[in-house]
Amino acid sequence: MSEKTIFKKIIDREIPSDIVYEDEISLAFKDVNPQAPVHILIIPKKEIESTNHLKDDDTALLGHIYTVVLPHLVEKFKLSDGYRLVTNCGNNGGQTVYHLHFHLLGGRFMSWPPG
Ligand code: 5GP
Repeated sequence: MSEKTIFKKIIDREIPSDIVYEDEISLAFKDVNPQAPVHILIIPKKEIESTNHLKDDDTALLGHIYTVVLPHLVEKFKLSDGYRLVTNCGNNGGQTVYHLHFHLLGGRFMSWPPG
């Protein structure tokens, strides 16, 4: 069996994290190396490596993250003026942890293009 990712260890409470939201489908916690005043990682509890590994039956899971978890965090962290939601995929996308995650960045102006 392949080794657990760091995010699976966070889900299983094997390593600590600053959890800001949790339900049966998803978990959100503060990034250990924040790139903005607000930097939250939103993850599905289901182990999915990246956006390249999504299946037809993951549609509801993605909808849940966008329509339930995201609005909750936007309100909680007062991000109604705007924010950035980023998913890095694969080596060229800069992905370092191979458990699907969404970076929610806010609390400052986000320049474009990203590096
Ligand atoms: P990626 O580069 O895969 O898009 O993002 C991985 C993110 O996970 C990075 O922003 C990194 O700071 C964060 N990260 C890595 N290890 C840990 C950890 O143990 N705890 C937390 N809270 N974040 C982590």
